[in-house]
Amino acid sequence: MATTTKSKEYIELEDKYGAHNYHPLPVVLSKGDGVYVWDVEGKQYYDFLSAYSAVNQGHCHPEIINALVNQAKELTLTSRAFYNDQLGPYEKYITNFFGYDKVLPMNSGVEAVETGIKLCRKWGYEKKGIAEGQAKIIVCEGNFHGRTTGVISFSTDPDSNTNFGPYMPGFEVIPYNDLKALENALKDNNVSGFLVEPIQGEAGVNVPDEGYLKKAFDLCQEANVLFIADEIQTGIARTGKLLAVDHEDIRPNIVLLGKALSGGVLPISAVLADDDIMLCIKPGEHGSTFGGNPLACQVATVALQVVDEEKLAQNAEKLGKLFRTELEQFDHEMVSVVRGKGLLNAVIIKPKNGKTAWDVCLKLAENGLLAKPTHDHIIRFAPPLVITEEQIVACINIIKNTIGSF
Ligand code: PLP
Repeated sequence: MATTTKSKEYIELEDKYGAHNYHPLPVVLSKGDGVYVWDVEGKQYYDFLSAYSAVNQGHCHPEIINALVNQAKELTLTSRAFYNDQLGPYEKYITNFFGYDKVLPMNSGVEAVETGIKLCRKWGYEKKGIAEGQAKIIVCEGNFHGRTTGVISFSTDPDSNTNFGPYMPGFEVIPYNDLKALENALKDNNVSGFLVEPIQGEAGVNVPDEGYLKKAFDLCQEANVLFIADEIQTGIARTGKLLAVDHEDIRPNIVLLGKALSGGVLPISAVLADDDIMLCIKPGEHGSTFGGNPLACQVATVALQVVDEEKLAQNAEKLGKLFRTELEQFDHEMVSVVRGKGLLNAVIIKPKNGKTAWDVCLKLAENGLLAKPTHDHIIRFAPPLVITEEQIVACINIIKNTIGSF
């Protein structure tokens, strides 16, 4: 795609002064509203990434922005050295919303994962009776739970962990969507938790077999092992239910949330659990300067209200079906697989004449739709959940016409 002088200048600045830890599509955005974003030249695009599912409520949702601005004028941060008038009401709201006794508020997604791991280990020692230093957590091949040294220790993606060792022990990797492997791993009494994404987003929207999560949950309960659902990407209506585990009617022992908990406005994450687990962590044993700050509490409360009031889960369920049906019926040699749930979908692209998923994404951008390849050959399609039927039909046409042009 052709980049103009203005875009080029911004891209060159990032290239010269920023670390090279990302490889963005060459588009420079300066405005967002609902499902749309605009670049610095004023070109309008449909956003089909939603900041990796953080902007489920749409860009700059007026109610969320109002909450942000109003609270920013009153009080933004107290630290947890003192109480504040926003945290308690937020904790009551979010625990009722998801049906858990307690919440532990953090900021980024990976902090929620780290918190979940610490909580699970603590529970393992203090409640399950695992001997000091022996607790193990089972994780899955292809996982993506974030970027800290702890979390990349059990990544199976060489890009994530090569030359970042030494790695943290205490994790056992098993294949995803493999109940036999889980059953075997659970025989070890030192296992305190099973950490799993209900759908593996970063791995390319890997949807497990129907019944896998339910059976995995049951196996964990039988083995007295905590089932920890990383719903950071799949949660908050993305897959057509409030949580992706709701498709199988299970209630994880620990739920990890992030991204859309703020509607993309601030880094806000949360860990949900019941008292017998959450109260294993005592004052001074875990925390964060910004976790539970008044600004985040207001923003997250309103971000969740929007999900509920605007029936975003129902919309994702309905329009997701339409999206997959249309693309499954689209006959083109570059499209090999269409998969997903709700509005978290992916298409596997078979290269043609040297043209790959990256080239398709460049062409999609030219045609007014932004999506990003994951793992070279997969394109994830995840628009804000406020998208309308008319808009998604227009987007399906852009995708078909773009791929059709190859
Ligand atoms: N867990 C999952 C399933 C994710 O998809 C991500 C981010 O993509 C994370 C954790 C990490 O979140 P963050 O980038 O906010 O640290």
